[in-house]
Amino acid sequence: GPLLVGRDLHKTFGATQALRGADVSVRAGEVLAVMGPSGSGKSTLLHCLAGIVTPDSGSIEYQGRDLVAMSDAERSALRRTDFGFVFQFGQLVPELTCLENVALPLRLGGVKRKVAEAKARQWLERVEVGELGARRPGDVSGGQGQRVAVARALVGDPQVVFADEPTGALDSLNGETVMQLLTEAARSANAAVVLVTHEARVAAHSDREIVVRDGTATDRELVS
Ligand code: ADP
Ligand code: ADP
Repeated sequence: GPLLVGRDLHKTFGATQALRGADVSVRAGEVLAVMGPSGSGKSTLLHCLAGIVTPDSGSIEYQGRDLVAMSDAERSALRRTDFGFVFQFGQLVPELTCLENVALPLRLGGVKRKVAEAKARQWLERVEVGELGARRPGDVSGGQGQRVAVARALVGDPQVVFADEPTGALDSLNGETVMQLLTEAARSANAAVVLVTHEARVAAHSDREIVVRDGTATDRELVS
């Protein structure tokens, strides 16, 4: 069965119904594109699946475990061990070097500095920015920064990488490269990717697509 399933998700912010009946499933190792116009609820859906936002109603199961019923501490621990994240920009810690940024998820998980930094260095090389380890995020280009972010999302061997408009701040050439690196890295690690995008060109890197419209989404994989 699927690795991650959200059913009939509802979420209201004040007067805004961001989600009003969204169904989605994610299979192990697949790249799933979540498409739809701006404001349709894509980010909210991603945040619910990732355990960052709690839905008002509906269910979320990860590996058969009820994500909504978990304590905040359990959810945080799960995010750290099983999930990776790539956002549009601004996700790297400016005070740390690129190498330290990539090593950070491992360090927070209690891995010793030498071991964490050795693994981080390998990941920087895999996404073709091995030479940038000593630089700070403010001193690299947008495309290079997103490669560093991809390395950081994958360094902890996650089961699922959540990517919210990961190429939204890049030109199309850099966007293509980052999408190729992200999907190749995830496929080789057998990590699933939940990719929020409104661009067909970005979604073309996925195995499967679902569309969010006015807070609703249906997933054919769940209908049977
Ligand atoms: P998308 O990712 O498709 O652009 P979002 O999930 O970001 O859509 O937003 C869906 C709707 O919910 C929008 O109207 C947005 O302004 C609103 N929204 C999202 N998050 C919040 C929030 N934290 N507080 C208030 N409104 C929010
Ligand atoms: P995206 O570009 O991915 O749709 P946004 O820029 O709309 O994301 O939102 C970025 C963050 O701000 C998200 O965490 C979202 O939940 C929150 N947010 C979105 N809309 C609102 C809003 N109207 N009020 C408060 N927070 C919001």
